[in-house]
Amino acid sequence: MAARGFVIDFTGKCIIVTGGNRGIGRAMSDSLAAAGARVAIIYRGSKDAVEIAEKIGKDNNVRCKAYKCDVSDSDLVTKTFKEINDELGPVTGLVANAGVSVVKPALEMTKDDFEKVFTVNVLGVFNAARAAAKLWVDSKYQGGSIVITSSMSSQIINQVGVGKPLTQIFYNSSKAAVSNLMKGLAAEWAQHNIRVNAVCPGYVETDQTSSMEESIRNYQASQVPLGRFAKPHEMAPQTLLLLSDYASYMTGEEYFVHGGQLVS
Ligand code: NDP
Repeated sequence: MAARGFVIDFTGKCIIVTGGNRGIGRAMSDSLAAAGARVAIIYRGSKDAVEIAEKIGKDNNVRCKAYKCDVSDSDLVTKTFKEINDELGPVTGLVANAGVSVVKPALEMTKDDFEKVFTVNVLGVFNAARAAAKLWVDSKYQGGSIVITSSMSSQIINQVGVGKPLTQIFYNSSKAAVSNLMKGLAAEWAQHNIRVNAVCPGYVETDQTSSMEESIRNYQASQVPLGRFAKPHEMAPQTLLLLSDYASYMTGEEYFVHGGQLVS
């Protein structure tokens, strides 16, 4: 008998989550494993990533493994995705989630700050998306799905100061760039039946936002119509939906999850 309700079942699927060991990515890895997927976690250097992957696998009775790989290194990403495809695959989906920020007044930003942000948030996403798409095109796999973690700051200049304007100039512009990159990939890869979408969170309680001063966090939360930052797990259902066949006619779309901030 068919199950009642809205069930997303990833049994038999293998999903790569970049930055899947902590924050928003960790919540996505947990939810994917709970839905039956085999999960490959890409991380940059966190010491506990291997144990976290083992725990996610054990808790959900699925295979889950961590792979150390800097997403800004194109050749390493291609090599690592092939390794994942051989060990846990065939890979069927990708969450390109890893991202970084530099918070400084625009007048103090440097070329190094620009490179730090754009090589992860834009080039790193492209490297991962292309490596996944290449696996699917080479194997003639139909139905690959890519979800990119962009941000509501692809649309607005979100303030991270109190009293005087302070933005994250390179972060905001990298998210606008990656949302546009997502649309281009969606248009180009539809011919291979590869869908590409983005989830665009507002403020989420992770290491990225815990580094903000408390007064700034409280002020920013007070500007959100729902009155608080999101929990990481509140970004997972949208990602799973976009990865799943329920979203088979969705591509090139941004799915905003911001507690009402963009409408106020
Ligand atoms: P965290 O800072 O908590 O975690 C970042 C993750 O990305 C870590 O797993 C880290 O690995 C990984 N990572 C960073 N750089 C690289 C790299 N070069 N190669 C591989 N992995 C890398 O981030 P969040 O969970 O807060 O953010 C996740 C995504 O969501 C980002 O794209 C962010 O921009 C976006 N976002 C976040 C919001 C928020 O309020 N937190 C709001 C809107 C969007 P390691 O642990 O090994 O360092």
